[in-house]
Amino acid sequence: MGAICPKGKISKARRDKRRAQSWKISTPTLVACGKCGELMRPHYVCKSCGTYNKRAVINMEMAK
Ligand SMILES: [Zn+2]
Repeated sequence: MGAICPKGKISKARRDKRRAQSWKISTPTLVACGKCGELMRPHYVCKSCGTYNKRAVINMEMAK
């Protein structure tokens, strides 16, 4: 009881599928920016207008 023992052999395909990272979503989810409407990643600063939560966080004039 309590022995850590594999219930059965995991096939090469199943093992490799687990190790493979290809199942991860390639395209991140995008939402429209509340200010400029540009597609941006949620919980990220908008790269188009430099705002987060409708508040300027990056000075876009300085970034240029
Ligand atoms: Zn924006």
